[in-house]
Amino acid sequence: PPAFDPADPLGLDDLLEPEDLAVRDTVRGWAADRVLPYVADWYEKGELPGIRELARELGGIGALGMSLEGYGCAGASAVQYGLACLELEAADSGIRSLVSVQGSLAMYAIHRFGSEEQKQEWLPRMAAGEVIGCFGLTEPDHGSDPGSMRTYAKRDGSDWVLNGRKMWITNGSVAGVAVVWAQTDDGIRGFAVPTDAPGFSAPEIKHKWSLRASVTSELVMDDVRLPADAVLTEVTGLKGPLSCLSHARYGIVWGSMGAARSCFEAAVDYATSREQFGRPIGGFQLTQAKLADMAVELHKGILLAHHLGRRMDAGRLRPEQVSFGKLNNVREAIEICRTARTILGANGISLEYPVMRHATNLESVLTYEGTVEMHQLVLGKALTGIDAFR
Ligand code: FAD
Repeated sequence: PPAFDPADPLGLDDLLEPEDLAVRDTVRGWAADRVLPYVADWYEKGELPGIRELARELGGIGALGMSLEGYGCAGASAVQYGLACLELEAADSGIRSLVSVQGSLAMYAIHRFGSEEQKQEWLPRMAAGEVIGCFGLTEPDHGSDPGSMRTYAKRDGSDWVLNGRKMWITNGSVAGVAVVWAQTDDGIRGFAVPTDAPGFSAPEIKHKWSLRASVTSELVMDDVRLPADAVLTEVTGLKGPLSCLSHARYGIVWGSMGAARSCFEAAVDYATSREQFGRPIGGFQLTQAKLADMAVELHKGILLAHHLGRRMDAGRLRPEQVSFGKLNNVREAIEICRTARTILGANGISLEYPVMRHATNLESVLTYEGTVEMHQLVLGKALTGIDAFR
């Protein structure tokens, strides 16, 4: 057998095709140039300057709507999209969030549920990163239970009039198009809302201590009048937004392992160079136990992500399986980051190292796209046949 590779202890790269490795290298290289040198500073300032330029560059490397077909999208495999998410989140969860929301939520919704005209209008510019999208489902009073949303779209002749508020919306203040989910007389429908429509505003949410290098906003819709063709024609009901979320969650299964890998690498570096009691701290059994456990969970998580990716590519991935992956990988990623934090001692809390930034980012990742508890309930229902949501 080939020599043991500490960076790939299970030999998981053997599962990848040359084209997969090429995608991974491209995204890793882009993140190394365009994110890693600056991200601690963005994080400290709580901003993502140059987000429009970053979006265009991400479009240029084919990372936006990456696994969608046509309309300027790359048509990549699910595994390739996952690898891209991993590399982006190894830089910062905020950058991966930008890409997830653009591709898996906003573009995916239009691609899957929009009319041909809507696709032509929005998707090519979104794939190129010229238009940023956001996805408004969560409201101030309705998070885990989006079916109870209050935002309402009422018909007025052939127009729609939209009223309500959305909360915690990634990319909101920089979006050119907002995919907004609203109650109608016929059930929940999605709308592609141009953000320059009168009555629409998207104030940015400040004072976040997580995902600081990411734009998060409120959406305020006050009698926003939309033409008849703003509604996403092909879906009614909660299954619309939920199927978009399932796609985005799949990216998080991979992405969270990127944040974990970054922290693991920082911990190994530190453990092999930092000395106490006259020897590297990586020479103490307690530190080695931590590193071994971190490596086991990291590479198990990547293997799980890969397995789900292959199922998605084969059209065999169930939403319950995505819940399985999201629940496990984000929970384990946060544990890996926290353990890395302990290995770095006091330096673990400094922005000079990536560990605390990733750990605090993952607090959001643990909550958005379905909290841990929601995924436990999804699996609990699938395992018992009993619905414990309410
Ligand atoms: P709640 O639903 O109020 O839950 C609070 C707690 O109660 C959680 O622990 C939850 O698991 C628990 N709980 C709730 N119901 C049950 C139950 N039946 N049984 C057991 N426990 C329960 N949303 C969007 O629509 N678009 C976005 O782009 C977006 N981006 C986000 C970015 C960030 C940085 C963050 C933090 C959030 C974002 N969200 C977005 C919102 C996110 O999806 C919600 O925060 C999430 O769905 C949880 O909703 P909530 O915060 O209202 O919590």
